[in-house]
Amino acid sequence: MLLSNFVVFIWFCFAVAQPQPSQSTAPYWPSHSTTPSRLTAPSLPTAPSESNRPDDHTAHEPPEDEPPDDDFELLKTTFPHTYAHRGCTDQQKRNLEVAANDAWLLAKAQTVPVEGYDYNLPHSQWLGDDWNKQGDETLDKQSSYIAGNFQNMARLVSGNLEKDQKLRFWCFPRWKNDDTCDKAKVYAKSWFWYPEDEDLAIKIHHTVFCDRFFWQPGLQSTVDRLKTKPMRDQLIIDNAVGVSAVTMLHEIYHYRDMIVYPSTTDYAYGALKCHELATKAGGGTELAYRNAESYAIDALAIYLQQTLQLGFPPISRKYMNEEIDPAGA
Ligand SMILES: [Zn+2]
Repeated sequence: MLLSNFVVFIWFCFAVAQPQPSQSTAPYWPSHSTTPSRLTAPSLPTAPSESNRPDDHTAHEPPEDEPPDDDFELLKTTFPHTYAHRGCTDQQKRNLEVAANDAWLLAKAQTVPVEGYDYNLPHSQWLGDDWNKQGDETLDKQSSYIAGNFQNMARLVSGNLEKDQKLRFWCFPRWKNDDTCDKAKVYAKSWFWYPEDEDLAIKIHHTVFCDRFFWQPGLQSTVDRLKTKPMRDQLIIDNAVGVSAVTMLHEIYHYRDMIVYPSTTDYAYGALKCHELATKAGGGTELAYRNAESYAIDALAIYLQQTLQLGFPPISRKYMNEEIDPAGA
């Protein structure tokens, strides 16, 4: 396949960024009959149709610029088919493994149902009140896409990727003169080669993790620290949102076709902005379901509530201060 047949798409991401699942092992690719919206245009999702993606999506060759398999080595993670570039140091590879295993815990909490747990609370908080509503074309599309994204993530959690689907992690920029990681606040960026043939699914996703990512605290140490804090601190998600696993999960929630459809973008980062985005005034589900960070924080909220055995999922500090507890008591 000629390189010219592909267009590369890149995200810049700031801080961004059990029971066996019962979901089908078949990938969830919401069908579409019109050209998918591309990343730079945060347009609304295209309407789903009854037709399915063709089955010949595995037939295409990787683009010429796709690095050879020998450039990567398999990481020891609970996510399947996850590789690090051989240019990463051993320490970086270990850090990637820790972050990936922690991101897996977050994704599992989010997508593998626990009996009796009220998922509506966190999903409404981070993906908007309409995350599961139906009744008109817009509501139906949104809830269908969100359900599909969760279903795809459950597949990744359970290890059910197709043979040629891969996650490829880098610890340095892919291209010469790429100064992405030199920019303030950038933790990671992801890209894929987008086949001009709209019916081909994207199989390989790349993410470069910048030095800032490797400086982020781990999930387990953060949870251990929170356990020593008053419950009020445990209920403020800002106290945990900076962990490396959230950055990695944010990036994975950019992986089109493998995880999300249609493309996600970055409308908001962090607990406060994502909370505001999910409200009606901030855009609500219509924007939140296209925002990678919203999914990552939603997963963190569920994981923390379950792990710390909290009465409700953690929320943003400002919301806690102003609405839940205006007196600051
Ligand atoms: Zn992003």
